[in-house]
Amino acid sequence: MTHQKLLPTSLVGSLPKPSWIAEPEVLWPAWKLEGEALLEAQHDALCIAVQEQQVSGIDIISDGEQTRQHFVTTFIEHLAGVDFQQREMVRIRNRYDASVPTVIGAVSRRQPVFVEAAKFLRSQTDHPIKWALPGPMTMVDTLYDSHYQNRETLALTFAQILNEEAKELEAAGVDIIQFDEPAFNVYFDDVRNWGVEALERAAEGLRAETVVHICYGYGIEANTEWKATLGSEWRQYEEFFPLLQQSSIDTVSLESHHSHVPVDLIGLIRGKNVMLGAIDVADHTIETPEEVADTLRRALEFVDADKLIPSTNCGMAPLSRDVARQKMLALSAGAQLVRDELARTASFGPLSRSMCV
Ligand code: ZN
Repeated sequence: MTHQKLLPTSLVGSLPKPSWIAEPEVLWPAWKLEGEALLEAQHDALCIAVQEQQVSGIDIISDGEQTRQHFVTTFIEHLAGVDFQQREMVRIRNRYDASVPTVIGAVSRRQPVFVEAAKFLRSQTDHPIKWALPGPMTMVDTLYDSHYQNRETLALTFAQILNEEAKELEAAGVDIIQFDEPAFNVYFDDVRNWGVEALERAAEGLRAETVVHICYGYGIEANTEWKATLGSEWRQYEEFFPLLQQSSIDTVSLESHHSHVPVDLIGLIRGKNVMLGAIDVADHTIETPEEVADTLRRALEFVDADKLIPSTNCGMAPLSRDVARQKMLALSAGAQLVRDELARTASFGPLSRSMCV
């Protein structure tokens, strides 16, 4: 995609929900409304999410995930073949136990899931819009499968379903389609054997720009405990970045600020767009614009400026609305500092790459 501006800013996805639609500062809260009233409230919440991103200077607009309760299961709820009453305990991403729905038959998409909401988002802004879907491997990892009993087969089936949805989102005017694959950071053998293949199949034939988001999760206890076991350098990305560099996916969304990911690992995806996490979503402290700029500057040693998209480490759903707003402002201000520096450099030296400001 040709971005209108150098260093276009973007959220990974979710924003906090207003207190009148769901309990604030809780991850995956239940809705306070139902039926038509819920639909109307979700649209209202989506409008506010758009407005808050735009006044904060965010360039690529997301829906803030205001129409979904959970980034994976809300999509799965709309599929045939999954029984939400029949639940089993499984270990999610080798990290925490959760009661999950069961795959009891062939899975298929009964009807479009997010297409109406995406059309509504399209009608609310002239900015480029991005829509996030769960990735096939992360979907498999959020279910108990008593039907296929084979992770690869189930993932490839989900990939086909995701591809149908993605093509309809594209037709609805979505410019960028993102697949959330935090499971890539855990199951390296599966990533190699079928994970990237399933991801590429989900993105097959799309003209929209494609993104894969791989992170270390929200700032919840199970994730914080897991991160403490990862040592001083988090080198998980090293396991599969070379595969993504070779893949058909356009953009990789990754964690950086406050994480222990060595910044030079970005060099492994040279040639791809990099959505760089310059905002820590696990900490309520607001970054200064200078801190954001510093994270971006360090990344620019390993990614060309016209391929860098300043972003957040992950979704901001569990934060307070005020903290999320301030973090968006910091992201925009930090990106502007670096944009100004690059413009000064370009006007003096040979570094006059395609400045599309
Ligand atoms: Zn994430």
